[in-house]
Amino acid sequence: MKHVIALDVGGTGMKAALVAQDGSVLYEARRPTGREHGTDAVVATILDFAADLAQEGRTRFGAAPLAAGVAVPGTIDERNGIAVFSANLGWRDLPMRKLLGERLGNIPVALGHDVRSGGLAEGRIGAGRGVDRFLFIALGTGIAGAIGIHGGIEAGAHGYGGEIGHVVVRPGGPQCGCGARGCLETLASASAVSRAWAEATGDPDADAAACALAVESGDPAALVVWQNAVDALADGIVLAQSLLDPSTVIVGGGLAEAGDTLFTPLRAAVTERLTFQMPPKVVPAMLKDTAASLGAGLLAWDLLSMEVTA
Ligand SMILES: [Zn+2]
Repeated sequence: MKHVIALDVGGTGMKAALVAQDGSVLYEARRPTGREHGTDAVVATILDFAADLAQEGRTRFGAAPLAAGVAVPGTIDERNGIAVFSANLGWRDLPMRKLLGERLGNIPVALGHDVRSGGLAEGRIGAGRGVDRFLFIALGTGIAGAIGIHGGIEAGAHGYGGEIGHVVVRPGGPQCGCGARGCLETLASASAVSRAWAEATGDPDADAAACALAVESGDPAALVVWQNAVDALADGIVLAQSLLDPSTVIVGGGLAEAGDTLFTPLRAAVTERLTFQMPPKVVPAMLKDTAASLGAGLLAWDLLSMEVTA
């Protein structure tokens, strides 16, 4: 069975798979990233995991993987296969593609950005299947995004395309980690909702999931916190709609777990803001925490099909 290695390197854990050409998952594995042991140890752990996956492929299917796709966080130079910077994992200008290629017997290696890889998978085999233009938004600790077009992801000239979390929706608002104020992620990320709900209740452990439950039981204070986040998110989506005109907005990440508690008011808030723009379908992501790994597998297969047609 022809297969590729798909690997998603996260801040705390790595998710990997061996993926067939039709996108089906043949084998899955997870391992801790071990960032507490330092950057060099993290890199060694990634290379060891990839080598073990290659061995798993040879054992199970009698042949080595044809290629590998690896999704990592931070700033990526996809063209040159360099992991430029990750605050979380500590590396700078790491030649990840070269290192993996050497370790895996010089098979082709694709290096991708974790959120853009997740968006790619959602667009091709998840919630955006069959959609030509979409916007993927992940509401987690921060807010990240990916612009889907013609079956691929538009990363921009410098690899920062799709960073909707740093669109300023409340000028002069809360301080963002990026240095600006009032960025979308300071208002509508899962962390932002957790912070706001902890403040409203005086309970430091109150989080976004608890806020969603309180909204569902009709708690007026929770409704205020929730609607603030929904309004900010709707402002961000409408800005994106004016610029990019996607047919579908796919919303994933921790906050999207709230389901209709999020999507019903969010759709209403988007619709009421539109003037001339066509309304996008606003839908939940489907692939959950395997999206980036599946996307890495798609990148690996794309690399092989480019080699055939080149
Ligand atoms: Zn920001």
